[in-house]
Amino acid sequence: MTQSNLPQFSNTNQAFQHLTNGELSRAVALFSLLGKPWVVSLGSALTKLALALRIPVGWAVRPTVYAQFCGGESIDDSKGTIAKLAEHGVRTILDYSAEGQTDESDLDHTCSEVLATIQAADGDARHAFAVFKVSGLSSNALLEKVGRSLRGEAELTSEEHAAWERVQARVRTLCEATHRAGGRIMVDAEESWIQDAIDAIAEDMMSDYNRDKVFVFNTLQMYRHDRLSYLKDMAARADEGGYLTGVKLVRGAYMEKERSRAEEMGYPSPIQPDKASSDRDFDAAVDWVLDHLGQVHLVAGSHNEASNLRLCEGMQARGIEARDARVSFAQLLGMSDPITFNLAAHGYNVAKYVPYGPIREAIPYLIRRAQENTSVAGQTLRELELLKQEQLRRKA
Ligand SMILES: Cc1cc2nc3c(=O)[nH]c(=O)nc-3n(C[C@H](O)[C@H](O)[C@H](O)COP(=O)(O)OP(=O)(O)OC[C@H]3O[C@@H](n4cnc5c(N)ncnc54)[C@H](O)[C@@H]3O)c2cc1C
Repeated sequence: MTQSNLPQFSNTNQAFQHLTNGELSRAVALFSLLGKPWVVSLGSALTKLALALRIPVGWAVRPTVYAQFCGGESIDDSKGTIAKLAEHGVRTILDYSAEGQTDESDLDHTCSEVLATIQAADGDARHAFAVFKVSGLSSNALLEKVGRSLRGEAELTSEEHAAWERVQARVRTLCEATHRAGGRIMVDAEESWIQDAIDAIAEDMMSDYNRDKVFVFNTLQMYRHDRLSYLKDMAARADEGGYLTGVKLVRGAYMEKERSRAEEMGYPSPIQPDKASSDRDFDAAVDWVLDHLGQVHLVAGSHNEASNLRLCEGMQARGIEARDARVSFAQLLGMSDPITFNLAAHGYNVAKYVPYGPIREAIPYLIRRAQENTSVAGQTLRELELLKQEQLRRKA
């Protein structure tokens, strides 16, 4: 491959081909609003208030943020989105994430929903991965306690043991179904105080299912200063145990929460001192995985143009083909289309998380997307600028 074969993320024709003129205008209007922090703060507060007072919000949310960032109310309802992405070489990662559940029947329900996404992907090449959060299958309090018990700081009661067995059984059901369907499944990374339990269960599943192919992927947040060494240790344990490692690399989504909890509770923050350090470790982790692709397969989950381009260059420099199944790229639906669709046009394996679910349940996710698009203002402005360029190009 020559240098000119690297994707150009500023190619707006390629980036927004999948959008009608109406959808393009909606995206311009939405990203213009999201670029204004006061609009996002006010909108988020009003939506939360309306939800608490049980005032219907669907009329305002459905045609705006929901249409931009969600596939539909159910898997069936998301079929149009899945087909449209596939038409442009982009695969789907159906994302059902219920949050903050504690009731056993709710946890079982989340497990059945994720199972339905695995079944929907079975035999359908338009789907790239399944995904789940362990916190959707367990109470957070239990995950935290399991983490402490793994570090020898606490002991589980017999009831907690039984509950942990049930959590492990739910995770196993999902990994077993993925394995049977010949698919792949990613375990999302979460807050550091529940992550030890998540890592333990993810490594356990990799050891059981990744014997000759990578079915299970764990996620590493490179905004944590200990993750580069964890990556190497995790891969070494896999080597020793005779199985393969799957890793999704991200920077991490809970920085403010992590820092303020560490400060409040008086322990050293697990987060890197600055953005440059997160970037440095993200790059180093990507390089390390590219150098160990025989044992470790990669999903890069990032909206950062430089990181995505750097990964393409890293592949090229090592003679790894764009469509090598051991390397995948992923972004969220409705964000960073210039990255996703230009990667797809150049033959890379790229997929979008497609969150779905009833509007009311999607609100916390949508508020996070709105806030994220405000906090990474540089990127939102860049996307807005590209959307406007495409409008002008079409008019011309
Ligand atoms: C497909 C996909 C899957 C994802 N899965 C997960 C997941 O399982 N778990 C999870 O936690 N997140 C996940 N994320 C979110 C991800 O962690 C980031 O929050 C988000 O993608 C922004 O990072 P970036 O690389 O795209 O962009 P950038 O804009 O380059 O990076 C922003 C990120 O850099 C880090 N950062 C910013 N400022 C500082 C600072 N001062 N000091 C240290 N670090 C800083 C933060 O992590 C921030 O989110 C996922 C994202 C994608 C696209």
